[in-house]
Amino acid sequence: MSVLFISDLHLDANRPEATRAFHRFLDQRAASAEALYVLGDLFEAWVGDDDDSPLAQEIIAALAQLAAGGASVFFTRGNRDFLAGEEFARRSGVRLLKETSVIEIGGERVLLMHGDSLCADDTDYQEFRAMVRDPGWQAQFLALPLMARRALAAQARDASRVSTRGKPMEIMDVNAAAVAEAMRSHGVRRLIHGHTHRPAVHEFNLDGERATRMVLGDWFRRGWALEWDEAGFRLEAFDL
Ligand code: MN
Repeated sequence: MSVLFISDLHLDANRPEATRAFHRFLDQRAASAEALYVLGDLFEAWVGDDDDSPLAQEIIAALAQLAAGGASVFFTRGNRDFLAGEEFARRSGVRLLKETSVIEIGGERVLLMHGDSLCADDTDYQEFRAMVRDPGWQAQFLALPLMARRALAAQARDASRVSTRGKPMEIMDVNAAAVAEAMRSHGVRRLIHGHTHRPAVHEFNLDGERATRMVLGDWFRRGWALEWDEAGFRLEAFDL
């Protein structure tokens, strides 16, 4: 029995190798796992559940096949696919998780997040995030034609590339106080998240107790997955 965690695949028609690796991962690893948690940014962009692009259809079908085989598949929205909604969930068979969710695994409470909300030092990004997470903004955006939404998403990605290029690395990493506060308020000593693309296992002291923050990696040069089984957690990389 194992449980798998992945995030930040950023699947995109321009990187077919990542999509192929995802199919392999589903067939070879996830199909025999009890559960798969996708902690955001599965897609490079998600402009609405009515997206009829071949990539969106292909990934929905692959997830649906996995779910039909008996695996439980959970999905936390990332900052790229925050518009993934009920229709996406219905068609893919995934269960949408809230921005923060606590699961119990091996008798331990574990907090799951995408991780972007922890990057509190990146104030430009947090402003943008507050805007696009607003239900009114989302309703307006989703009312636009698909073509217009795709164009706006491409523009936003270009703008984000320009803005992140000039930002010091530590600004774009998680803020230690935000991490401590999230863990404290959820009563956990283990947090799993992605987003920063800095895969690592951080051990630290939280209010006198040992705490662990496990960061998933992206699927660019390699792929990353965190696996849990009776022996514990293992964060590992593999070739795409
Ligand atoms: Mn992200």
